[in-house]
Amino acid sequence: MIKKIKCNICNNRFYIDKNQVKEVSENKGLSSLTTGSNVYNAIDCPNCGCQKILWTRLPEVKK
Ligand SMILES: [Zn+2]
Repeated sequence: MIKKIKCNICNNRFYIDKNQVKEVSENKGLSSLTTGSNVYNAIDCPNCGCQKILWTRLPEVKK
């Protein structure tokens, strides 16, 4: 099942192309030293180019 997502900015609806999904991380500056930084999967809206956050990607714990 293919789902469309809606851009928050321009209300454009578009399909998620997994080749276009990228990992982004939140730059929290110095506080990231203690709390780590959140990593998200995001895709750019093809209409207005804004970044749409899809879901949070939690960092993998290395065993
Ligand atoms: Zn848009």
